[in-house]
Amino acid sequence: MKTSASQLDRLTVPGELYERLENGDVRCYACAHRCLIHPGRRGVCQVRFNQDGELRVPWGYVAAAQVDPIEKKPFSHFLPGSDALTFGMLGCDFHCGYCQNWVTSQAGRDPQVEIIPAMLQRVSPQELVAFAVHSGAQAVVSSYNEPLITSEWAAGVFRAARQAGLRCAYVSNGNATDQALEYLLPYLSAYKIDLKSMQDSHYRQLGGVLQHVLDSIRKVHDLGLWLEVVTLVIPGFNDSPEELWDAARYLASVSPDIPWHITAYHPDYKMTDPPPTPARTLLRAAEIGQEAGLHYVYAGNLPGRVGSLENTLCPHCQAVLIRRQGYVLLEYRITGAGACPDCGTPIAGIWPEQPESVRLYGHGMPRPVRLSTGM
Ligand code: SF4
Repeated sequence: MKTSASQLDRLTVPGELYERLENGDVRCYACAHRCLIHPGRRGVCQVRFNQDGELRVPWGYVAAAQVDPIEKKPFSHFLPGSDALTFGMLGCDFHCGYCQNWVTSQAGRDPQVEIIPAMLQRVSPQELVAFAVHSGAQAVVSSYNEPLITSEWAAGVFRAARQAGLRCAYVSNGNATDQALEYLLPYLSAYKIDLKSMQDSHYRQLGGVLQHVLDSIRKVHDLGLWLEVVTLVIPGFNDSPEELWDAARYLASVSPDIPWHITAYHPDYKMTDPPPTPARTLLRAAEIGQEAGLHYVYAGNLPGRVGSLENTLCPHCQAVLIRRQGYVLLEYRITGAGACPDCGTPIAGIWPEQPESVRLYGHGMPRPVRLSTGM
C-alpha cells in the first residue's frame, strides 16, 4: 500500500523559514533554491507547500532512524568513538543519480519511489531524544534525506537534545541559505557538507549550483561550527586531477584544518555505468589534498585498502593519534585538551574531555531503531 501525498501532508506544521508575499505567495528560505511558491503549490523538494498563504513543513515523523558510530556520518574529528542517533525524513532539494539514500531522499520527486507506510514512524522530539539518551548516544544527527528542507523539525529535535546534554549535527548537501544556518546555529555543533564537484555544470545536473555550496562551506566555517567535507569520487565524473586540485585548494583557502573525506563510489540508483572507484584513485586524490595544504585527509569506503588514510595523524610530527579500521577505533591518543601527546600541537576538532573513556574496538554496526508502529 502506498502512502498518499495527502496523508504525508497531514504530518506538517506552519514553517518558520519563509516570508509571506503578496497575493498569498510565500518565499521559502530553508535551502538555496529559495522557492517562490504560489497558493496550492509545492517547492522543488515537494515536502514544503503553500496552503492558503502559509508554508506548511514536515513535522512529527521519521522515515529512518538508527544508532550508529559517528565515524559513519562521516565525522573523524567530532566525538570519535561515540554513537549517534541518526534520523531522517523524506525528500530532497537535489536529485543525484547516484544517491545511496534514494528510497527516502527521492520520495515525492521520483514517481517510481514508493512511500511505504511502514517506513514512517510517528514520533515527538522528546521521544526521539529519550531514545537517544537511553541508547547511550552522545549526538543526534539529521541525515538520510536533505536535512535543510526539514529544518524546523530538526530544530525541534535539537532543542530537546541540547536540553538533554547531547550534541547535534547536520549531514547535508550544503545547499544552504544564511537564514537557515543562522536559524540552526543555536543548536548545531557540527556540520558535514558534500562537495560533489567543482564544475557548476555537474551541479546543475544534480539540481544545484556550485557557488551556493562553496558559500555554505565558508559560512559554516565562519559561524564557528565544526565542519568536515566529503567528496564522493566518481570515475569519469569528478576524478580528474584538475578538479580534485580545485576542491582541495578551495577547502585549504577556507581552513587547512577542515578534514576532507575522499570516499569511494559504488553504482547505485540511476548511476550504474561508472565502475566502482579504485583505491589508487583515492590515494592520488589524498596526495593532492595533502599537497594543497590540508592537514587532515581521509579515504573512505574501502576499509583496509587505503593504507594510513583512515588514521588521524598529527600535522606537525606525523604521530598516529587515532588508528581506525572502517568505523572502528583501534587506538586513541589525543589528549583531553585536544592536542598531540608527543609534540603538543593542537588538533582541530571537538574531542572527548576524558580520552580514557573513548570506546575502542566498538561494535561498528548500525542498530535500526523502532520507535512506533508507523502511520
Ligand atoms: S526547502 Fe528548498 S526546495 Fe524546498 S521549498 Fe524551500 S527553498 Fe524550495
